[in-house]
Amino acid sequence: MRQIHVIGGGLAGSEAAFQAAEAGVKVILHEMRPTRPTFAHQTEALAELVCSNSFRSDDWLNNAVGLLHEEMRRAGSLVMRAADAHKLPAGGALAVDRHGFSAAVTAALQAHPNIAIRREEITRLPPPQDGLCIIATGPLTSEALGAAILAATGEDSLAFFDAIAPIVHRDSIDFDIAWMQSRYDKKGPGGGDADYINLPLDEQQYKDFVAALIAGEKTDFKDWEKSTPYFEACLPIEVMAERGPETLRFGPMKPVGLQDPRGESRPYAVVQLRQDNALGTLWNMVGFQTKLRHGEQSRIFRTIPGLENAEFARLGGLHRNTFINSPRLLDRQLRLKSQPHLRFAGQVTGVEGYVESAAIGLLAGRLAAAEALGGEQAPPPPQTAFGALLGHITGGADAKTFQPMNVNFGLFQDLEVGTNPRTGKPMKIKGGDRKQAMARRALAALEDWLAKKPDPV
Ligand SMILES: Cc1cc2nc3c(=O)[nH]c(=O)nc-3n(C[C@H](O)[C@H](O)[C@H](O)COP(=O)(O)OP(=O)(O)OC[C@H]3O[C@@H](n4cnc5c(N)ncnc54)[C@H](O)[C@@H]3O)c2cc1C
Repeated sequence: MRQIHVIGGGLAGSEAAFQAAEAGVKVILHEMRPTRPTFAHQTEALAELVCSNSFRSDDWLNNAVGLLHEEMRRAGSLVMRAADAHKLPAGGALAVDRHGFSAAVTAALQAHPNIAIRREEITRLPPPQDGLCIIATGPLTSEALGAAILAATGEDSLAFFDAIAPIVHRDSIDFDIAWMQSRYDKKGPGGGDADYINLPLDEQQYKDFVAALIAGEKTDFKDWEKSTPYFEACLPIEVMAERGPETLRFGPMKPVGLQDPRGESRPYAVVQLRQDNALGTLWNMVGFQTKLRHGEQSRIFRTIPGLENAEFARLGGLHRNTFINSPRLLDRQLRLKSQPHLRFAGQVTGVEGYVESAAIGLLAGRLAAAEALGGEQAPPPPQTAFGALLGHITGGADAKTFQPMNVNFGLFQDLEVGTNPRTGKPMKIKGGDRKQAMARRALAALEDWLAKKPDPV
């Protein structure tokens, strides 16, 4: 049996190490923190959440990331086990106490008899005689290893921006103005329907705020950043503001499903804050990722009603992201085609998000373990969220325009529902029914895949 090296103990590497170890393979997990820090990580814990504490929607029947949660749970995910054990109230979303979460992942890996953890930076790609290797070094892959990957792939790694949202101390928010409510009073995993702090703006306040965002001083671009496209799902708030006066009101500041108990009519716009720690003392401004200068952020965000005296635990910022051209470089087993003892997992493969990164880690761990044990595990079927995401990065996406991707139903195989016997045309299921049918189909296909033993090679 070959051993497996996992490089990087983030969301993907932690899950990959756990899955391989559970399959009975010896794993060495290499994590460079705390010896070598990154600009975003703040602790030495494994699976640290570097920004938001949300795993997004937990609704498996209607939302693709919720479905991915459920598939991961059924596949015995350590990340989901720890997230469920440390969840916080957050409406329909799965939010976690970040410290409790990463402490639980770290403890489980440290206690695992098949896992050895080494705190060291890996600066070169291990040769085949060292065993199999999973590279899960994330968007902030260290420079030396990044250069080694570049040399091995012959491809330019790409870089783009994500931006961090500010975090506010709850006791600095004015609750004569703010109120608690989840959008449409939707119940979350914790059972609550009033999980968010809401701040109302009238029309004039909204217009002034948008103007201030546009006029505010931004961080300078570095040369290498200038040609980098933004990731559409994580646009800085001031970039959204620049796109049109109504963009924010139809985006992160939308007022639908929210009623100010003190107001006579629905607010013109609303800023929402989501709980960020178990104590409930810190709240993050939902969708307010920004590249405004820090001084400008405090000044402009304090013009929001209820935040006049806000104290910020952390201000927003920019970060870079490194990912490889997976559709061109990787096979369906997540192996580098040119050096198949090397697998990639997590954000570095061009998926986007904590959950997606951990999910690809889970697959890499299982696929590598089967290989280490002398067999070959078929990749998950395309009807599953696992398979849809994997299929996208390993061939579904156009290599020429490849950009990081969150899981979504657009990546799934369409439903085959036969032809209409009257018209002879293909029948279609639309909207929510279509998503639900896809979700049910996914879980059925997943059960078959999980029951399958690896094929001997
Ligand atoms: C600043 C920032 C904010 C983000 N915010 C969010 C968010 O709010 N929500 C969301 O869903 N996603 C967010 N992302 C995107 C992404 O989901 C996370 O980065 C996620 O942590 C990716 O998981 P990963 O396992 O691929 O990488 P990571 O979790 O970053 O893990 C990689 C690990 O590899 C280690 N490492 C790097 N190089 C080496 C080396 N040479 N040798 C040994 N170890 C090494 C790092 O120290 C790190 O622990 C954000 C990303 C960044 C950078």
